[in-house]
Amino acid sequence: MKTLRVLMTGYEAAPFFKRGGLGDVLGSLPKALREIGVDARVIIPYYQDIEAKYKFPKIGEYSIVFGEDIEKIGVYEGGHTYFLSNKKYLTSINTLGRNKKIDQFAFFDLAVVEFSSFILEKKKWYPMLIHCNDWHTGFIPLLIEQRIPTLLTIHNLNYQGWGSNKVLDLLHVKDEKVKELKRGVPVTEINVLGEGILHATAVSTVSPSYAHEITSDYEDDPIHLYLKRREREGKDHGVMGIINGIDYATWNPKYDTNSWEKGKKKNKEMLLKSMGLFSRPTFCFIGRMAGQKGLDILVRAIDKILSKDKNAANFILLGSGIPAIEKMVKRAANKYKDNIRIELSYNEEFSHKLYAGADFIVIPSRYEPCGLIQMIAMRYGTIPIAAKTGGLKDTISHGENGFLFEKESVSGLVEGIKKALAIYQSHSVYEKMVKSALQTDFSWNKSAKLYKKLYIDIINS
Ligand code: ADP
Repeated sequence: MKTLRVLMTGYEAAPFFKRGGLGDVLGSLPKALREIGVDARVIIPYYQDIEAKYKFPKIGEYSIVFGEDIEKIGVYEGGHTYFLSNKKYLTSINTLGRNKKIDQFAFFDLAVVEFSSFILEKKKWYPMLIHCNDWHTGFIPLLIEQRIPTLLTIHNLNYQGWGSNKVLDLLHVKDEKVKELKRGVPVTEINVLGEGILHATAVSTVSPSYAHEITSDYEDDPIHLYLKRREREGKDHGVMGIINGIDYATWNPKYDTNSWEKGKKKNKEMLLKSMGLFSRPTFCFIGRMAGQKGLDILVRAIDKILSKDKNAANFILLGSGIPAIEKMVKRAANKYKDNIRIELSYNEEFSHKLYAGADFIVIPSRYEPCGLIQMIAMRYGTIPIAAKTGGLKDTISHGENGFLFEKESVSGLVEGIKKALAIYQSHSVYEKMVKSALQTDFSWNKSAKLYKKLYIDIINS
């Protein structure tokens, strides 16, 4: 069979630009696909930060018509990744408000659609499928009009890209093309993810449990209407859930089931020393400080544990986001100065030290489409205590390589932390769990094959 050529796109891709799990996925899945014979390439915006750091060579340019303007797109290339540059729309992630952001990604999506002609001419390369990720790429299926089949993967249904319909004028798309739903969705608004769901050749998400949740539990969410409509139109057999993997080269503890004890001890000592913490069982949190991540649940659980026993544990929290959540975390750190350390920033290097040096990681998410942090942690023999939801449920075996508790339950999390403290004391159980975590396969091996099969099914459908 001919080599599969796939163009993958989203707003971030590691190592060039990463703010969350999607960045990891677009950094690692294409590599894994190439290892099994798929010619997978990636395309993202050429943000100023990337340009300043990498200075990739320019391979050409083309123009697109956006509204009344003719805008130039510069194309840069680094390895298997293409970067699209435009001074007006693509220099940085726009935080100025939702409509500006919608315009920005409408622009990017149009540029990606036009890129397929550019790259054919330039390199005689043409994608057999475009793999879109999240709402930022939701206009692509609509604009490409089935000329190239598309897969839209939902990494987080909570971010849908709502905005004014006016963006359609900029894209020169006629209203009737947009299948906006009259019921429950204001007609002057557009839901970019929803349009992507309706127009994509196939839709997937990042874990089987989340696939089930979004198709059955989200009845109050307008996106449910889009998913239902897709189903009614008989587009396919529902939303497939393929669990993410992690890049074993990026996340490499350099110890295994035989040498973990020595390695982990050294990492932990360095971590605690740099944080000025006593030697105690150490729990970490790593993630965006958004409502989804359940920091309020964590802070209350920490209070319950430490108010009873000041020596019970250390907690080190890394993340940034909503100011009110950061403030709440700061208050907790002030209250328990001997036990809590916080780093309120996005800090990749420190995240490695935390995964490597902590004994446990707490993940009290209200929902979690897949979650990478539990897999990365386990790769370092760091045991997760996680809410029983989405991908967390699919990747953690309770009592074997981690602990699960009922989501949104403070007492459940407290119990989980207590269980963790108990096994930590009885060394043999702890050791068994660490070894089990280290042995669980979170590489892309299995999932990359599932994506390849899905691509083939879509192209042949
Ligand atoms: P989400 O995609 O919802 O943010 P995931 O668990 O899928 O959550 O992925 C989070 C990724 O972002 C992980 O690679 C994690 O290490 C990284 N990350 C999150 N917050 C930070 C931070 N403050 N500093 C460094 N890395 C972070």
